[in-house]
Amino acid sequence: MAIVKPFRAVRPRKDLVEKVVSLPYDVMDRKEAKAMAKGNPYSFLHISRSEIDLPSSVDSYDKKVYKKARQNLDIFQDDGILVQDEVPMIYIYRQVMNGEAQTGFVANTSVDDYVNNVIKKHELTLLSKESDRINHFDACDANTSPIFMAYRTNDKLAKILEEGTKAEPEINIETEDGVLHIVWPITDKAMITEITETFKDVESLYIADGHHRTASAAKVALKRRADAPNCSGEEGFNFIMSVIFPADNLNIMDYNRVVHDLNGLSVEQFLSEMEEIFDITKSKGPFKPIVKGTFGMYLNKEWYKLQIKETYKYGKTILSKVDGTVLEEKVIENILGIKNVRTSSRISFVGGIRGLKGIREKTEKYDGVGFAMFPVSMSELMDVSDSGLIMPVKSTWFEPKLRSGLFVHRFDSFNIVKGDGSTSIETKEYIDSVLDIVNSKDGNQKEFVQAVTEVFHSLGPVLEQHPEYIDNNILERIVEPERSITFRVPWVDDEDNVRVNRGFRVQFNGAIGPYKGGLRFHPSVYLGVVKFLGFEQIFKNSLTGLPIGGGKGGSDFNPLGKSDEEIRKFTVSFMTELYRHIGPDVDVPAGDIGVGGREIGYLFGQYRRIRGKFENGVLTGKGLSYGGSLIRPEATGFGITYFALQMLRHEGTDFKNKTVAVSGFGNVAWGVCTKVRDLGGKVVTLSGPEGYIYDPEGITSQEKINYMLEMRANTDGKIEDYAKRFDVEFFPGEKPWGRKVDIVIPCATQNEVYLEDAKKIVENKVKFVIEGANMPTTNEAVDYLKKAGIVMGPGKAANAGGVATSALEMSQNSMRLSWTSEEVDSKLRDIMKNIFNSCVRASSRYGFGYDLIAGANIAGFEKVADAMISQGKY
Ligand code: NAP
Repeated sequence: MAIVKPFRAVRPRKDLVEKVVSLPYDVMDRKEAKAMAKGNPYSFLHISRSEIDLPSSVDSYDKKVYKKARQNLDIFQDDGILVQDEVPMIYIYRQVMNGEAQTGFVANTSVDDYVNNVIKKHELTLLSKESDRINHFDACDANTSPIFMAYRTNDKLAKILEEGTKAEPEINIETEDGVLHIVWPITDKAMITEITETFKDVESLYIADGHHRTASAAKVALKRRADAPNCSGEEGFNFIMSVIFPADNLNIMDYNRVVHDLNGLSVEQFLSEMEEIFDITKSKGPFKPIVKGTFGMYLNKEWYKLQIKETYKYGKTILSKVDGTVLEEKVIENILGIKNVRTSSRISFVGGIRGLKGIREKTEKYDGVGFAMFPVSMSELMDVSDSGLIMPVKSTWFEPKLRSGLFVHRFDSFNIVKGDGSTSIETKEYIDSVLDIVNSKDGNQKEFVQAVTEVFHSLGPVLEQHPEYIDNNILERIVEPERSITFRVPWVDDEDNVRVNRGFRVQFNGAIGPYKGGLRFHPSVYLGVVKFLGFEQIFKNSLTGLPIGGGKGGSDFNPLGKSDEEIRKFTVSFMTELYRHIGPDVDVPAGDIGVGGREIGYLFGQYRRIRGKFENGVLTGKGLSYGGSLIRPEATGFGITYFALQMLRHEGTDFKNKTVAVSGFGNVAWGVCTKVRDLGGKVVTLSGPEGYIYDPEGITSQEKINYMLEMRANTDGKIEDYAKRFDVEFFPGEKPWGRKVDIVIPCATQNEVYLEDAKKIVENKVKFVIEGANMPTTNEAVDYLKKAGIVMGPGKAANAGGVATSALEMSQNSMRLSWTSEEVDSKLRDIMKNIFNSCVRASSRYGFGYDLIAGANIAGFEKVADAMISQGKY
């Protein structure tokens, strides 16, 4: 009873299939793979043989190779070269070579069937080869090439194959070796059920080719199960992507042997020993055996026909009757003295596809002896497998070969566990007691109280499992900033008036690294806003996986309508106090609302002047000419979009043809518009405090995207300007949340999505809300959206790409290096993916199921709490 399951294959975009597909990973060496992929960025070899993209000094089995494979696989998917099918399917795959067709099913088979010998093998595997594919599958979180399997021919399945191939195929390509590859995806649920049910009557599946990969896939699954004992058995890693052919369709070719010497015997001595077993006749030309029991032999530049003598006594097992066994035991071992064919360097194997010529050439190279074999039959192979025996090494050469890249099975299944979320009364009381303290001390800082309440909401089960967090009173310690600095910022305006603003820097938590967080210049800034942002920043920075603590700062200065000179004077005054509290290893501010490249430039200039040192690691978001990083301006918006893409992928979809409502028109909104456009979607709204614009064509042209930069650079810029410039509608006094779109990404400021907005979003059947800004959604609105089944991406995870790229800027500064845009972008993608994965895992680990908000809070919190405990009680 074989388990066969549909799956959502990741497959090449239709117009790229021919460019993507490649020969299997194990039929070429590194040099050949590199040559094959040369000039073809779409070749699947960039994934299956990713070492071709690394310097040749990197060993083919180095960790970097597997990491690169994963990176390339992700990039192929992100760039739409590979696309995941939206629903699980079984596929029919036909290969035609020299007019002969083999047609089978592409589906998932089960690791349990392999373990329980329902999937049968006929070959032994080498641990060294297994570990290569274990590392590859593990890193890619995917099976990247299907296992070639067979089943004993079954009438019902034959009928289904006949039915399923009546329609026009979706893919029909010819590869350079003249083989046709034809694919019919089966989407019809009834047909899929018929296939899976019929396979339940199939007793065994036989591995034809891919013993190492199957063993590796099984080991990956068993290890993951051991690591997550609660897993359901339905996770993607429990299944092995396979192509399963009816046995009578398959063409096994001969697999021939060349022994490099005669073991010290003369030709005459060797022939005389051979005569004990075989009738030997000299052949006029090359001899290819056409019946079982005969062999061709090439020796001393002559061909011979060998026939096993009629008097030869076969052993009792099926295996002893296989030609390969007779040759191996009686000749290769007894006469030629090779005790272990699998490891000996005195023997070579020549695939049937290379013909007798291949045997002749290899034999002459060594001046040894070559043997041409009669091919093993499928029934011999299945009989041997059924008896639990192992065929002589390299007995079968299947042609045509399956192509890699036509199908990928991404495991992508986190072990999502939904518990009852229950928390003991004692733990609840502890959380409430700390919330009471926050309310009594800082009740007037409503944004801060809101942020703390939201994070604490997720921590019950974590505290339950980690009583040490309660013992060390981590919650009360974590809500109190390590340091809050408030200072006077005097400056002189263009009319020579002396003006005074208030400056802030909150160094909230430095347990895992120097404080890091932006500066915000906005009239709404007061201690409560800076503390809420700093508190969020602790978890956000921890989520990036980089060693940075949480901080935030800013001023109630309003840049709107100020001249360039006024802005310069203000920032210089601001830095004149701030400089004494910051430093590359102490606290590293960056931009936020109202603080962009220009302001960072002025701030850095003043810092350098006062310190008398070029310490460019003190600020991030700098200009390129003095230590800034490429992609930093785009990073927050790009990161949000990459995070959103993971969320979409998780639900089996992507940005293609999706409409997105965005608020704000600043730095973050600009990055989101650009990347959503690149990924095939369109942002249709932007907003400012005075209202929003609706652009049904989408903010997709470069002109519109550049115009956003112009508006932002202009301190008098208003969103209405966009409406005038591009002749679209402006809705004064309204927010964009009433628009019917697929995805909502608030990118302006905190608390811009209230309960009444959430209701509109739900009415409009929006599927995803991703917070681009910090805490743009009120806690009531979050609850409402979640209850309505909307998938929410929390700001502290989604917009962490900005600070992560700031940390990359810091690394470049300390190494005095500049990475290319591609390098930074690729690191950013990886970071966003890792953040997403951490959120999913953390949420599931504590029984929240798939809840990215809880996951972000928990994953961010745990690391900081552990570091705080390790550093003592202060
Ligand atoms: P920004 O460039 O100053 O843009 C903010 C935009 O939002 C401006 O267009 C602003 O319009 C608009 N806006 C402000 N208040 C609004 C309101 N009540 N309704 C509608 N629109 C409003 O700032 P940003 O850097 O994009 O930051 C936006 C959000 O992302 C903030 O929550 C910030 O903390 C967060 N964030 C930013 C970064 C980063 O790297 N920049 C990183 C992480 C998180 P006006 O200019 O007309 O006020």
